[in-house]
Amino acid sequence: MDGAGLAQVRSTCPYCGVGCGVTLRADGAGGLTVEGDPDHPANQGRLCSKGFALGETVGLGERLLAPRVNGTETGWHEALDLVARRFADTIAEHGPDSVAFYVSGQLLTEDYYVANKLMKGFIGSANIDTNSRLCMASTVAGHRRAFGSDTVPGTYDDLEQADLVVLTGSNLAWCHPVLYQRLAAARAARGTKIVVIDPRRTATCDIADLHLALKPGTDVALFNGLFAYLRENGALDEAFILNHTTGFDDTFTRASADDPEITGLDRRDITRFYQMFAATERTVTVFSQGVNQSTRGTDKVNAILNCHLATGRIGKPGMGPFSVTGQPNAMGGRETGGLANMLAAHLDLESAEHCAAVQSFWASPRIAERPGLRAVDMFRAIGEGRIKALWIACTNPAVSMPDADAVRAAIRACPFTVVSDITPETDTARLADVLLPATGWGEKDGTVTNSDRTISRQRPALAAPGLARHDWAIFADVGRRMGWTDAFDYRSPTEIFREHAALSGIAGRLGRDFDISGLADLSDADYETLAPTRWPVTATRSGGRFFGDGRFFTPDGRARLLPVRQKAPAAARSPKYPYRLNTGRTRDQWHTMTRTGLAPRLSRHLAEPFLQIHPEDAAALGLAPADLARVKSPLGTAILRVLVSEDAPIGTPFAPMHWTGETAPAARVDALVAPANDPVSGQPESKASVVAIERY
Ligand code: SF4
Repeated sequence: MDGAGLAQVRSTCPYCGVGCGVTLRADGAGGLTVEGDPDHPANQGRLCSKGFALGETVGLGERLLAPRVNGTETGWHEALDLVARRFADTIAEHGPDSVAFYVSGQLLTEDYYVANKLMKGFIGSANIDTNSRLCMASTVAGHRRAFGSDTVPGTYDDLEQADLVVLTGSNLAWCHPVLYQRLAAARAARGTKIVVIDPRRTATCDIADLHLALKPGTDVALFNGLFAYLRENGALDEAFILNHTTGFDDTFTRASADDPEITGLDRRDITRFYQMFAATERTVTVFSQGVNQSTRGTDKVNAILNCHLATGRIGKPGMGPFSVTGQPNAMGGRETGGLANMLAAHLDLESAEHCAAVQSFWASPRIAERPGLRAVDMFRAIGEGRIKALWIACTNPAVSMPDADAVRAAIRACPFTVVSDITPETDTARLADVLLPATGWGEKDGTVTNSDRTISRQRPALAAPGLARHDWAIFADVGRRMGWTDAFDYRSPTEIFREHAALSGIAGRLGRDFDISGLADLSDADYETLAPTRWPVTATRSGGRFFGDGRFFTPDGRARLLPVRQKAPAAARSPKYPYRLNTGRTRDQWHTMTRTGLAPRLSRHLAEPFLQIHPEDAAALGLAPADLARVKSPLGTAILRVLVSEDAPIGTPFAPMHWTGETAPAARVDALVAPANDPVSGQPESKASVVAIERY
């Protein structure tokens, strides 16, 4: 209780992967006061503008309060009977691969666990993918190639203990603001050097000692050049390479073949970066969507990992490669197998032993044994009529997927579409045959994992409104209705978490990294009071870093150095489409604004969709500040407010991805983005579309 007699609830922010702890106080009239939790290790009381405005986003104005079938309100029994019957009938007629789930990094771990168990273990397909595919799939693939596991080696503390932090493809100041605050404070206290690698000048550059504004898509050449420089200047850790890695010779030969000047950077700046990296033992390289969202995303990740592995700078205080995830529970999704190419508990779909272990644990009638459809391929299959029943939970792909117009048309044409969400007012929810009201942040009860492997509780401070139910309960109810009564007989998130933790113990015994078996016996009371806990959690180990001992999760225990080749983005500029469009986030909005759009103060920062464009490009196009521009790609059109700025490089304007609009022309920027995938990770190239621009 606080001084006013209001109960305080500890929870976590629902936005980015920093995973800040918050304290909530409900006012008893539906309102909520939100403050930073001083005891949470991720933020130590800090919040960013989005976190501070959370209390303004919990009203019931746009909430979905009862199930709807074809637009008519109905009860849960009728709606869930229909969902279970249509999925069962479709599977009986067309097989398990004719249905799909598309879920979200906003779901809690318990939600993810039940959805993945239903699809992979009982329906028997791996056609479950998540919007995290658009966010960090290339990191997952890069980690698995190099480490034999999807392991984030370090912790947030490393950013504060480093002497050099390289931020590549990461606008930390806007996209992970509290981590940026921690880094800025460390820099002020101990003089941390900071290098920003980004084609655009972003707010993060305000604290940079060096900004490398490379040409889009040339990151592999820059890091290959660094690898070769480190070798040529005697800056490698020969003992670590010899004892703990394979592939050095091929990697060095390949790296030496790339000319870093293809980046368009001044040779002196390149050399200065290389000298800083070579001379600084305590170096952390932070990477994010600018690396991941590329048809070469996995190679970019491995080019970075190569440099850390070859210098032995991994898993030790103040050093290592560090992926920061976009969403609050992208990591929990990875842990439960929410991606179409993963099993549960970081086990491998490609391993017969792993599949058998999971099937035995679940006592399931079948198990998916091959990867399912990844996001872009899933919506393509829906459009081609190969997927005949679709369930979308907690995400808005009609706005956020590449080729968004085609995705919207595919969902509309799908014979049966279920959407579970908190509002009927999204582009995707408007296309649903069945709408299911889910609980939202402030009402949900479960766990999330942030970017440094810390598991935190999300606790409810508000009652579920109307007939809204938790996502795990909705999936479990459909599982029971499809005939798997015992397997989905959950009464609380605690039961699901214990099962998830117990399964991870099997993974641990099979030599996997993700093991939280030390939490498998939590009592209900222990789960209720669970403090933020970094995994692994076993009988012998709790938290800490990975790989400092040089042991990896590959069959021979050695990390893989991987030869990777510089290649241009998939789409080439042409006289018809002469500009390369970069997309991303703004500081105060989140995803498609279904929550942040409810807080008026967040719209004061940047109130409308815009095109940030260099003055030379604007002059050549006859565009003045505040004009409207029509931006056209081979796939779609958007109308955006012109914002003239030297922060955007010449030829490469920037547009945020948050805004939508039901009628064309609108500001659905992902309608411009081509569905070109990284061949390894399946992550689409969201930052290198080709467009034409004209005055509107
Ligand atoms: Fe929320 Fe991320 Fe801001 Fe923290 S930094 S308050 S997790 S949006």
